[in-house]
Amino acid sequence: MKKGIENLKFPLKGKYIAMLAPSFVVEFSYASIISRLKKLGFDKVVELTFGAKMINREYYKKLKNSKGLVIASPCPGIVEIIKAKIPKYKKYLARIDSPMVATAKICKRFYPDHKTVFISPCHYKKIEAEKSKDVDFVIDYKQLNKLFVKFKIPKYSKRIYFDKFYNDYTKIYPLSGGLGKTAHLKGTIKKEEILVMDGIANVLKFLKNPEPKIRFLDVLFCIGGCIGGPCVSSKLSIEARKKKVLKYLEDSKKEDIPEPRKGLIEKAKGIKFSS
Ligand code: SF4
Repeated sequence: MKKGIENLKFPLKGKYIAMLAPSFVVEFSYASIISRLKKLGFDKVVELTFGAKMINREYYKKLKNSKGLVIASPCPGIVEIIKAKIPKYKKYLARIDSPMVATAKICKRFYPDHKTVFISPCHYKKIEAEKSKDVDFVIDYKQLNKLFVKFKIPKYSKRIYFDKFYNDYTKIYPLSGGLGKTAHLKGTIKKEEILVMDGIANVLKFLKNPEPKIRFLDVLFCIGGCIGGPCVSSKLSIEARKKKVLKYLEDSKKEDIPEPRKGLIEKAKGIKFSS
């Protein structure tokens, strides 16, 4: 893979941004993960939550203006399986960026000389990244854990801030239903027209015999959502992982984040997140 870890040399030299999927809290501690990544040579560390907020706005517009079925597309596992196994549903996939691609576009605006490196809970993100001009590399949680061991970077280190783009409420994006819960869809679609589902077997079963009343499929490939991703090595149950994400959200609401680090909508003005 052109964008895989094999094409990165650690510790990094030069300008690299780590883009952390918000599911990271099931695998690594916040906020020491930020300084641990900096010890690996990352110049900047950001989280995907602001990109998620921007794509939520696209889903709001899409659902407000469409009458037919819309299948959420932030999960490349869902996208790839639909394309390969049930191509008749391809046309219903929302042509909206994933939080990874949206965040990479925002990073390229703010840090045009930096390379973006997504830190991922799954392999499917590597496939998605190969198609994006804004995501330069992807490494997964298991690979990152090995790097921390190799370079003897301790689990807990100094607390520092993400460099930019803080957003709190989209921290639940890696949970099943996280998109629908945070996209403020009231007024665009009725509750009973939304189906939240996780686990690819369940999704495929539903699509064999879909209920006509469903207009929005908020679906994720892994059981529980990205917290159940194949590159998560945590031995915790899905329920315990979910609690970690919810605690992260609650704690973040109390954090006093200075303005230059916040993810404000005007900062992404003019960037296209859908086609
Ligand atoms: S749900 Fe699973 S396959 Fe989909 S993006 Fe998350 S970790 Fe990857």
